[in-house]
Amino acid sequence: MELARTEERIRGVCEDWREDGLQIGFVPTMGALHSGHTSLVDISLERADRTVVSIFVNPTQFGEKEDLDAYPRDPESDANALREMGVDAVFLPSEEEMYPPGYSTYVEVEGVSDGLCGSFRPGHFRGVATVCTVLFRILRPHLAVFGRKDAQQLAVIRRLVRDLRLDVEVVAGPIVREPDGLALSSRNSYLSRLEREQATALYRGLLRAEGLAGEGRTDPAALRSAVRAEIESQPLLSAQYVELVDPSTMRPLERLDRRGLLAVAVFAGRTRLIDNILIDPPENREEGAG
Ligand code: AMP
Repeated sequence: MELARTEERIRGVCEDWREDGLQIGFVPTMGALHSGHTSLVDISLERADRTVVSIFVNPTQFGEKEDLDAYPRDPESDANALREMGVDAVFLPSEEEMYPPGYSTYVEVEGVSDGLCGSFRPGHFRGVATVCTVLFRILRPHLAVFGRKDAQQLAVIRRLVRDLRLDVEVVAGPIVREPDGLALSSRNSYLSRLEREQATALYRGLLRAEGLAGEGRTDPAALRSAVRAEIESQPLLSAQYVELVDPSTMRPLERLDRRGLLAVAVFAGRTRLIDNILIDPPENREEGAG
């Protein structure tokens, strides 16, 4: 496995593969890898001839009061795990490599970046869109895999790729959960034992709402209340938002008359957790699919 720390090195590796006619799959991450990340790596290993994983805790997507300095980092063990999985290259750039002195260009994806996490993390998706654009330009992958856990990020990247005619196929991977339903996240390591227990309310709430939709409820207020009720029953959790939106535009749905994304963000103590579920209206569901 190639462990590249410079743009020049990874660019050369990818260029050689492209010249040999090989399809390159790319999984961008901030490291502290867990099974959510490795499930995306598996998709790339399956779909592409060569797989590159980047590990970069991107400062431009963190707000001033956010956890950039505390964010968990363990690049050596991440690289070892990726090597064992059969990943072909890891790109582990420094901050200076990604943002050399004088760097001053940012990518803003309007509309999709507003609302939900965008409202509470100003500048977050500008940072995400910028770093992904730079990474796509360096690696020029044929496909890039993103997790549905970060549903708004996925929508932002899809729009970015479409609008800027970036020549990369965006592939979405399903949310990987703990046995009790909590979505895996590098930030789960911040949770105390009690917070961790109570955090299971996010997915319980989402499933409750899905159940209501299955019974024919289509009003967003009812679905959102079901999620809020589960969260509010846990003293250490406080909801930041619960929204039912169109999964591509992130605009609120007035009725569940097509596929909706029910998305939630909460604080468990000082740790911010997000989760979501895609819900189809009853008439769109396949016979017997429940
Ligand atoms: P991060 O390292 O948090 O920036 O995440 C890197 C990629 O892993 C993003 O595409 C995330 O959506 C994805 N990801 C994180 N957690 C999960 C999860 N539990 N299930 C699926 N994908 C995930």
